[in-house]
Amino acid sequence: MKEIKLEKDSLKTIPLRQIRIHDRFWNRYIRLVKDVLIPYQWEILNDRIEGAEMSHCIQNYRIAAGEADGDFEGAVFQDTDAAKWLEAVAYVLEISPDKDLERLADKTIKLIGRAQCEDGYLNTYFTIKAPGLRWTNLKEGHELYTAGHMIEAAVAYYEATGKTEFLHIVERFADLICQIFGPEDGQCHGYPGHQEIELALIRLYRATGKKRYAELAKYFIDQRGTGENYFLEEEKKDTYRQIFPEFAGYDTKYSQSHLPVREQTTAEGHAVRAVYMYCAMADLAQLNQDRGLLRACGTLWEDMVRRRMYITGGIGSSGILERFTTDYDLPNNCNYSETCASIGLALFGRRMAQITKDASYMDVVERALYNTVLSGIAMDGKSFFYVNPLEVWPDNCMERTSKEHIKPVRQTWFGVACCPPNIARTLASMGQYMYFADEDTLYVNLYISSSMSFELAGDETEVEMESDLTNTGRVKIRMTRREGAEACGLALRIPDYVREYSVRLDGETAGDTAEPEEARTAGNAPGLVKGYLYIEGIRKAETEIEIDFHVPPRFVRANPKVREDAGKLALMKGPLVYCLEETDNGGNLPAIFVSAGQELEEQYEEELLGGVTTISFKGKRLTEDAWEDGALYAERRAAFEDTRLKAVPYHCWNNRGPGEMLVWMKELFPV
Ligand SMILES: [Zn+2]
Repeated sequence: MKEIKLEKDSLKTIPLRQIRIHDRFWNRYIRLVKDVLIPYQWEILNDRIEGAEMSHCIQNYRIAAGEADGDFEGAVFQDTDAAKWLEAVAYVLEISPDKDLERLADKTIKLIGRAQCEDGYLNTYFTIKAPGLRWTNLKEGHELYTAGHMIEAAVAYYEATGKTEFLHIVERFADLICQIFGPEDGQCHGYPGHQEIELALIRLYRATGKKRYAELAKYFIDQRGTGENYFLEEEKKDTYRQIFPEFAGYDTKYSQSHLPVREQTTAEGHAVRAVYMYCAMADLAQLNQDRGLLRACGTLWEDMVRRRMYITGGIGSSGILERFTTDYDLPNNCNYSETCASIGLALFGRRMAQITKDASYMDVVERALYNTVLSGIAMDGKSFFYVNPLEVWPDNCMERTSKEHIKPVRQTWFGVACCPPNIARTLASMGQYMYFADEDTLYVNLYISSSMSFELAGDETEVEMESDLTNTGRVKIRMTRREGAEACGLALRIPDYVREYSVRLDGETAGDTAEPEEARTAGNAPGLVKGYLYIEGIRKAETEIEIDFHVPPRFVRANPKVREDAGKLALMKGPLVYCLEETDNGGNLPAIFVSAGQELEEQYEEELLGGVTTISFKGKRLTEDAWEDGALYAERRAAFEDTRLKAVPYHCWNNRGPGEMLVWMKELFPV
C-alpha cells in the first residue's frame, strides 16, 4: 500500500457562490435541481404527486408540532426527506438567490422548530409514536442519522443565507445529544446504527467553533466496535423494540461495529453507512492530525477502489443488505451499487484529496460522479435509480427473485427516499469538487466549464474555464489578476485515464507526457506530483492555459480475478463508461462479442439524449439460425453474424424507454 502523507493544512473548497457552472454536459443536470427536482420534491414531501409513494414528511412535522391530528407515517428516518430537501435548497440559494424559494424554506424551518421538543429533541417518529423509547434502539431507530442530516442542512442553510434560526434549532438538539452521549458515567456509551451524524457534527463545529461537537464526533468514532458490541447488548434490554424484522440475527459488520475503526482493513457491511463513517474518520484525522486514523482511511480506501468497486464507481455489490461482500465480487446484473453509496464515496475521496493533495482520489470521485451518480437521475429530473446495475434484462427483474431490487426503469419516488434528494444536493454542490485552493495555488480537479473568482496569494483571481472533456478532451483556462499581483500557482489534475496530454501556458509548453519524471518533480520546473501538474510563478495579469487531454474511446479490461468480467471488455471515453442499449443494438445483448483491436468511431449527436458522443464499432452476434428446432442444449457450432454496434454513455441509459443494457461485452479473440 502506498504511504500517505498527512498535510498540516488541508486544501480548502471554494464557496459555491463564487462559482458559476456553464457546462454543456453538466448544466442539463444541474439546472434540473432548481427547475425540477426541488419543486418536485416539495410536492412529494407534501404528498401531492399522484402515483408516487407517499412521503408524509411535512404532515409528520405538523402532527409533532401539535398542529394536525393523526399518526406518524413513513420510515423511522422520514424526517430526513425534509432535511435533504433543505440542504439542496441551501446550495441552490447560495448559487442563485431566490426570494420565493427562501421564503418556502424559512416556513419549513419554522415548522421544524415548532416540532422540536422543549429539551431540544427533534425527531417526529419518536415524538409522535414512541416518546418513551428515545435512544433505546440505536441499531435501527436512525435518530442520530436523522439528526445528522438535519445538522448538515442547517449548516448549509446558514452558510448560504447567513440566517441562524435553523442553526440554533440543530444546536439545541446537538447540545442535548452531547449531554446524552459520552464517556462519563450516566451517559449513553452507544453510537449510531447508521453513521452520518459524525461528519455532520464536524461541519457544525466548523460553522460554530464549538469544540464539543467535534469531540462528540470523535467519541462516536473511537467508541465504535470497542468492548461488547453495543447493538447486541441493546437488544437484550427491556426497552428494546425491534423496528426492522430483517435485522434479526444482526451481523455487526453490517454497521461497521465489528471492530474498532482503526483496526478495520476491509470495507464491510452496508456501503452507505461505511462511506459516511470514513468521511468522518478523514475529517477527524485532519482535525486532530491523527496519523493512525488517516492510515485506516487509506487502507479502507484502497480496499474499496482496488478490489470492491465497479468500473462505474458503484460500491456495495450485494442486493441483500446493500453491502460489500468479498474482494473482486462484482456481479453486473444483480448488484446494488446504491446511488447514495457512490455519493458517499465521492464525499470521502474529496476529503482524502484535500488532506493529502493527491489527485488519484479525485480520479475515483470523477468516476463516481460521471457514471453512477448521474445514472441515478433521469434526464427530465423526475425519476430515479436507487440501484445501479451494469447489465439489465428487464424481463427477469421479477419480484421475489434475486433480481427483485433491480428496477429496469427509473422510479418516480421511493418510500425510502434517500437517493433522489442526495443527488439533488450533490448536483447543487458540484463546485465543491471542482476546485481546491491553498494560500497561493488553485487546484483544478474537475474540468467543467465555469467562471470563478477567488482570492489567491492575496489578490482576487478570476478563472474562466471552457471544457470539452467528454468530447474532444480540450480545456482552456484563462486567469485574470491585478497587474503586479504576487505570483500564484496552478495545480492541474492529470486524470488517470489520460495517456497523452499537453499543457500550454501562454503558448509555451508547460507539461506533457514526454517530460522525464526527474524534470517534472525537480526544483521550480513545472512538475507532476501525486497526479497534479504544478505550474508555479504565474505573475502576469492575463494567463491562458490550453490543455489537450487526448480522450479517444478505449476498451478496458478488468483484473481476471473479477470473475464476472473475465474475458470481457468495457468501453470508456475520458471519465465516461459506455454501455449498449437494446434500442440501438437489439435484444439479447450477452450474445454479442467484440474484438479490442479495431477502430472506434466517435460521433457527437446533438439530437440524441440531449447531445452525447456515441461510439460505434464492429461486433459479432451469435445467430439463432441453427436453433430453430427449439433445442435448449445441443452439440452445435457457434455461428456468428456481423453487426454494427452503437454505445452511449452509461449515465444516460434508460432515457429512451425500457430495454436491455450491457456494460461488459464478451471479447472475441482472433482464432
Ligand atoms: Zn440512497
